[in-house]
Amino acid sequence: MAKYIFVTGGVTSSLGKGIIAASLAKLLQARGLKVTIQKFDPYINIDPGTLNPYEHGECYVTEDGAETDLDLGHYERFLNIYTTQANNVTTGRIYQTVINKERAGAFLGKTVQVVPHITDEIKHRMLLLGKDDKYDVVLTEIGGTVGDIESLPFIEAVRQLQWELPEEDVMVVHLTLIPYLKAAKELKTKPTQHSVKMLSETGVHPDILVCRTEEPLNNDIKRKIALFCNVKQEAVIEAMDASTIYEVPLLMLREKLDLICLKKMNITNYAEPNLDKWKVFLDKLKYPRSKVTIGLIGKYIELQDAYKSILESFVHAGAMNEVKVQVVNVHSEFITHENVAEKLQGFDGLLVAPGFGHRGIEGKIIAVKYARENNLPFFGICLGMQMAVIEFGRNVLGLNEAHSTEMDAKTQYPVINMMEEQKKIKMMGGTMRLGAYPCEIKEGSLAHQIYGTTSITERHRHRFEFNNDYLEQYEAAGMLASGKNNDTGLVEIIELPNHPFFIGVQYHPELKSTVESPAPLFVGFIDAAKKYNEQKSNMKSSSMKDAII
Ligand code: GLN
Repeated sequence: MAKYIFVTGGVTSSLGKGIIAASLAKLLQARGLKVTIQKFDPYINIDPGTLNPYEHGECYVTEDGAETDLDLGHYERFLNIYTTQANNVTTGRIYQTVINKERAGAFLGKTVQVVPHITDEIKHRMLLLGKDDKYDVVLTEIGGTVGDIESLPFIEAVRQLQWELPEEDVMVVHLTLIPYLKAAKELKTKPTQHSVKMLSETGVHPDILVCRTEEPLNNDIKRKIALFCNVKQEAVIEAMDASTIYEVPLLMLREKLDLICLKKMNITNYAEPNLDKWKVFLDKLKYPRSKVTIGLIGKYIELQDAYKSILESFVHAGAMNEVKVQVVNVHSEFITHENVAEKLQGFDGLLVAPGFGHRGIEGKIIAVKYARENNLPFFGICLGMQMAVIEFGRNVLGLNEAHSTEMDAKTQYPVINMMEEQKKIKMMGGTMRLGAYPCEIKEGSLAHQIYGTTSITERHRHRFEFNNDYLEQYEAAGMLASGKNNDTGLVEIIELPNHPFFIGVQYHPELKSTVESPAPLFVGFIDAAKKYNEQKSNMKSSSMKDAII
């Protein structure tokens, strides 16, 4: 029987509950336990697939094609495991299930209520992953902040489980904030006291308090928090701001968060934590040998979370190449033929981001043209790949105003068009081509060189694709379709062999990049950017020498 750790949050949002949960899970995994994490989100959407990235950040897609919260990306990146549809549950999904059951007559004669029907469904899903002996510990992050109306049924379900299951099988870790008041030069514990009080009023008592703080918590403060919040002093954990999220597992190890959990859960069969690979990665990340600057061309750049997995993939690929990757966001809406050189000339590589809809499209196409013509390393993901196809159509093949039918349904040259099976779909939620599909890579291509294999699977999230009616024309002019799905003929990868690094992929390689196994295309792209940067500095220094001579 698995043990269950629930992670709740208090005082304010954005304290990094997902990172704390992933770090704790990492430590338990490093001690030899089989661990998974899930997230319960209190909103009514069935999944975040229909949410605007501005609202909610990126939508993370799992192998099995679930559109999930971006915290699942952290779980996978930290633990190097795959999560599934079962790892992300929303209030909407819970209610949908209960209401469907009601319509099917499952509760005949009964009034269907939040307690027990909704909470029963929540508990069922909370325990689900722990049912088949696959895991020793299942961590559950409860989205939102304690005190929110929306999260009450989830907290109530935790309360019931604390009461129903053996004491050592359930524990609650509560994440709070200890603000530092500069004027008073003091750390303040009151918000934490209030948040624990609020949690206790719902009948849930935390076993551990993880306290986010900018200043170290001395013993006096810890004692005070322990006394007022009714937890053991050793269970008051300091979570200082870290320079990178990947340092948090080591900070939590120092604070013995894992050991306190193991003790409470009465788990005695564990090893010394094996974090060797993690530490090597962290060392490379913290002490890079050089730097590259990448322009991220997108339209959701105001919110960093919108491109979370891409940014993290750059971190992994940077460490692998021992370079610091500085990512500069460029809003595609403001790129024009006139200012493109000025905006992009300082970069060592361009990534044109995924996206939907019309806004900012022309800027992306202009950016691709600049990269193609100036031998600047280019990497296009999903919509970014589609833009590269459109750019090539317009500027190399002379297909004036070639477009995607997503932006221009009546274009004369629909070089990107809607996938056949998408045409009959009317509902928006969960209906794209989602999740892992295989791709066969052409031998001798750049993609082959980078992946080191001809068969891969990668994750997807799109409705449109390369229009194969134009394939011959493209290949004759030098754009190679180097990766395809053999079942459908769908073009998965395009590249320009006469360019140092120009690659576009219909899939999302960023979704499979982890600390222990960085996405090959990101590693290859950063390697190309490094070479581009070195060439640039060699040229600079030789032209300086010429000037001196
Ligand atoms: N809007 C494009 C499509 O649906 C690209 C999607 C994406 O970038 N994820 O095909």
